[in-house]
Amino acid sequence: MARIPYVEEEECTGCGLCEEMCPDVFKINDDGISEVHDPHGATAELIQDAIDNCPVECIRWEEE
Ligand code: SF4
Repeated sequence: MARIPYVEEEECTGCGLCEEMCPDVFKINDDGISEVHDPHGATAELIQDAIDNCPVECIRWEEE
């Protein structure tokens, strides 16, 4: 089963790093919080990099 990323909105600070790293996957929304725009917009490796670099560790994998 495929994994897709999701963002814990309550924890996200809106720093924008994930959007910088995977601009097709993550978008900062009108509330200044990251949300998943296209879960298949980057390779799993690139998404994992974004997960590993999120300063508050609020991006996680879930089963699709
Ligand atoms: S890197 Fe983490 S804290 Fe920063 S915008 Fe993305 S999800 Fe939010």
